[in-house]
Amino acid sequence: MPKETINPQLLKILACPVCKRDVELKGNELVCVECRKRYPIVDGIPHLLPDELR
Ligand SMILES: [Zn+2]
Repeated sequence: MPKETINPQLLKILACPVCKRDVELKGNELVCVECRKRYPIVDGIPHLLPDELR
């Protein structure tokens, strides 16, 4: 598995930390289906942090 992708099982349980909605994989990022916020995936680990906390 390329390191830019994540486990589909993990993707299912992930949710946007801002609005708690599902996120979907777009390229090497996760995008919230609700607020469209984008979260990077680094070394297979999704970084689901609001911008303010980075
Ligand atoms: Zn969201």
